[in-house]
Amino acid sequence: MNAPQFLPFALPDIGDDEIAEVVDSLKSGWVTTGPKAKRFEEEFGAFLGDSSLHCIAVNSATAGLHLALEALGLGPGDEVITTTHTFTATAEVVRYLGADVRLVDIDPATLNLDLDQVEAAITPRTRAIIPVHYAGLAVDMLRLLDIARRHGLKVVEDAAHALPTTLERELIGTLGSDATVFSFYANKTMTTGEGGMLVTRNAALAARAKVMRLHGMSRDAFDRFTAKVPSWYYEIVAPGYKYNLTDIAAALGLHQLKRLPAFQKRREELAAQYFQGLADLPLILPPQAPAGDTHAWHLFVLRLTDDAPVDRNTFIERLYAQGIGCSVHYVPLHLHPYWRDRYHLTPEQFPHSQKAYERMVSIPLYTAMKDSDAQRVMAAIRQALEA
Ligand SMILES: *Cc1c(COP(=O)(O)O)cnc(C)c1O
Repeated sequence: MNAPQFLPFALPDIGDDEIAEVVDSLKSGWVTTGPKAKRFEEEFGAFLGDSSLHCIAVNSATAGLHLALEALGLGPGDEVITTTHTFTATAEVVRYLGADVRLVDIDPATLNLDLDQVEAAITPRTRAIIPVHYAGLAVDMLRLLDIARRHGLKVVEDAAHALPTTLERELIGTLGSDATVFSFYANKTMTTGEGGMLVTRNAALAARAKVMRLHGMSRDAFDRFTAKVPSWYYEIVAPGYKYNLTDIAAALGLHQLKRLPAFQKRREELAAQYFQGLADLPLILPPQAPAGDTHAWHLFVLRLTDDAPVDRNTFIERLYAQGIGCSVHYVPLHLHPYWRDRYHLTPEQFPHSQKAYERMVSIPLYTAMKDSDAQRVMAAIRQALEA
């Protein structure tokens, strides 16, 4: 018997328009940051529908998170609170700046960070909170922003999963945080290969991030003293980074952004098929957005119930044996040697994240999937759950 064809866990959805736009960039001579990166920033702001937002294109969400925290002046002695149930990028940027991370557990119902624990983790050194809209479900930002306001803390949203996600009908990125960062990594809800967008209403933060995005290079200092700046002149005002997005990447982004509403609709259709087809199995299905709100469905995360007849690792092996790719989001930070050892973390400190991790599996959900692929995934899950 032939092995069944393998269905990957994730695949990008790149169309002919994206390809033509990349070819146009290659032929134009603008292969690094140029007119398309600028247009991508403008169109991203228009998508969010808020003209007071500054959108700053960067070469990854990690870079965007780093720039946001740098612009907020974070440094040694400061603490930042975030969830243990995330990708390491959320937390590593805090360490780039010499500040420290305080990890908190999740709410097992939403898999987002537990806001009671956020409040309990605040110390005199706490400077900021980084919420992660896990899988594409919004954190209760109204309560989180209230906590931040009461304690004088900054908020930088890791919105790598949350394009488009809404909270009380408002898009993530337009709420009252200091900055929001989206990811266009290959498996996210839209992609530029590698890329990200830093979004903020704070003009000073935007100005600093723009300078630090490209080597700490500025023409503004010169502008103040003379009306006519020679085109070749610039000044270095800080030891900046190399975080600019290329026009080749922006070319992809321009068309992916246009397709985002259709992508979202398709993700919702696939999620609905999973909710319908998996309801009777020994699985905890993922939390859904409240009626009227949008879940981005970056991930569809199942958890095996306590009485499921298989353990998680066996379950994943059985799916792979049937040609279904899957993944785990995430091995929580408290289990990784770096984070565990630096902060002397134990699983007992994060019981909800630990339990979710031990029982969770992310199944394929992406726009390049056909309905028949989703049917295949569900049939494989049903078979994998037989004792
Ligand atoms: C993907 C991801 C990132 C990093 O995004 P890059 O664009 O790859 O830097 C950060 N946080 C979370 C939660 C992610 O899933």
